[in-house]
Amino acid sequence: MTWRRDVFDAGADLVFPVLCGGCGRPETRWCRRCERMLSDSPIAAHPRVDPGVAVWALGRYRGPHRQAIIAIKEHDRRDLARPLGAALARGVRALASWGELPDADRLLLIPAPTRRLTARRRGGDPVTAVAAYAAPALGGGVRVAPLLMTSAMARDSAGLDARARARNLRGAVRLRTGGEPDRGATAILVDDVLTTGATATESVRVLSENGIDVAAVVVLAAA
Ligand SMILES: [Zn+2]
Repeated sequence: MTWRRDVFDAGADLVFPVLCGGCGRPETRWCRRCERMLSDSPIAAHPRVDPGVAVWALGRYRGPHRQAIIAIKEHDRRDLARPLGAALARGVRALASWGELPDADRLLLIPAPTRRLTARRRGGDPVTAVAAYAAPALGGGVRVAPLLMTSAMARDSAGLDARARARNLRGAVRLRTGGEPDRGATAILVDDVLTTGATATESVRVLSENGIDVAAVVVLAAA
């Protein structure tokens, strides 16, 4: 039945048509309308669990923000790392121009912790991939530092309320071994979706305990 494979390969675009990752519009992987909607200024977020540093979101978790995040995380749309990375870079630049970041030329983008299994998946962790596109757009002094991981003991936090989430994460976020972080740089914690703020809070705490003071949390979308 090899012909089936040949037909499948030749017709992959017909079977899986090219669609905008933000709105489903055909014939483009990322349309101009979604591009514009991801170009808005960052908004201040105020999660119930307060990490003690400013939290910024590129937008609300709806429309193209939501669709793109679901597509890159769950439907293997790795190509969306580029437009999301560009949007993250624009957001960070805006924050720098507002004086929200002490040293915008030397930044450390620290992806929120991933479960080891997720990080090992094909293409790795989506947030790290997005940050990797943002960093070079921000300049030579900007690095991605995947310093955090969650231990295997942490349950999936979906469905837990804020307090249960915080409890679940206590002791579950850890610094990865190896790799000396650039301690002089301004650290920004980056995540995809902000919900209760529990992950961000625990991450900021663990980094702080290890001598890395996070200047701000920047998420792609706030729920
Ligand atoms: Zn679109």
